[in-house]
Amino acid sequence: MELKQSIFVYTEVEEGTLTKLSVELLGKARELAQSCSKAVIALVIGEHVREAAGQAIGYGADAAVVAEGPQFAGFDSILYARAVQQVIAAYTPSVFLLGATKDSRDIGGRVSAALQLGLVADVTGAEMKDGDDTVTWIRPAYTGKVFAAIRTKTRPQLATVGEGIFLHNASDPSRKGEIITAPLSLDGVTGKRRRTGFTAVAPEKMALSLENAEIIVGAGKGVGDKAGMEQVQAFAERIGAGFGVTKPLVDDGWISHDSQIGITGKKVAPKIYIALGISGALQHKLGIKDAKIIVAVNKDPDAPIFKFAHFGIVGDLFEAMPALEKRIKALQA
Ligand SMILES: Cc1cc2nc3c(=O)[nH]c(=O)nc-3n(C[C@H](O)[C@H](O)[C@H](O)COP(=O)(O)OP(=O)(O)OC[C@H]3O[C@@H](n4cnc5c(N)ncnc54)[C@H](O)[C@@H]3O)c2cc1C
Repeated sequence: MELKQSIFVYTEVEEGTLTKLSVELLGKARELAQSCSKAVIALVIGEHVREAAGQAIGYGADAAVVAEGPQFAGFDSILYARAVQQVIAAYTPSVFLLGATKDSRDIGGRVSAALQLGLVADVTGAEMKDGDDTVTWIRPAYTGKVFAAIRTKTRPQLATVGEGIFLHNASDPSRKGEIITAPLSLDGVTGKRRRTGFTAVAPEKMALSLENAEIIVGAGKGVGDKAGMEQVQAFAERIGAGFGVTKPLVDDGWISHDSQIGITGKKVAPKIYIALGISGALQHKLGIKDAKIIVAVNKDPDAPIFKFAHFGIVGDLFEAMPALEKRIKALQA
């Protein structure tokens, strides 16, 4: 099998298993490979990753290139990025996909700068026309108001993709593929990690997580300030709902990223999503697309959220909250 000029997927492994996003990327790579007759190769880096490399083949890779060993215990962006660069030099891939995670974005940025490659971030679509090895990437621009089609001239064509964009990739355990040790020479490469001690801290347990809440209240920039956000949070608690926010609230440091809903946050699927002071940008919309019912409160009648909300209230969220609370509690009684 020809490994050169193929479609590489940089995979991530957690506790010996490929992450959900890595599986999604392999599925998309397989789909692209069908239109251009290229092989799909998974790149798997870590301390113990052979088993995950086998999983990658089941999920659509024709082969897996593995960089394994104690030097890869824990993520070190300098070391990992250097390994990726050497793999790119050895196999000259046509396409190189990474997840839009903290670690993979770090690798993508470093590799793009070191090899002078274009990088398309947070793509939501990718297409290859028969016989042509150039990918047309689709990504939102101008805070989601338009979708831009982008083609990169450099090779490999680097792109990052968030979770939940390319769904539905099932494993086929009968698939066969070679597992190859990556040709690396990292002697003398000094990583940036300086670990002096490490204690794992369990994430704070919330009574209602965004993953399991049947009702979620989402707060947007319309809350005004941190105190406004806390009023919405208290409202969520009173009606027994989970609480999430848009990215600007996290960017302002009002709440941790664990509470962010959207393309670079959590994807939620409650029965009811109550969006308070949220404009409805595409990056947020993609995080709530599986909500059964969306109720939006926004004082701007032209806010984009009203285009996809099932119920809308044009008005001030702080005035709407008491009325909503009364109505919801009456329904819950
Ligand atoms: C790469 C990238 C990734 C991103 N990822 C995410 C993501 O994961 N999640 C996310 O949410 N965003 C994400 N964003 C940001 C996204 O593009 C939007 O900027 C963001 O979602 C807007 O948040 P918002 O609706 O709270 O704020 P705004 O767009 O500022 O909207 C505030 C809304 O509140 C309304 N309002 C104001 N006062 C009141 C009031 N008193 N009562 C009622 N309504 C009021 C206004 O009319 C307005 O519509 C991302 C952006 C980029 C570029």
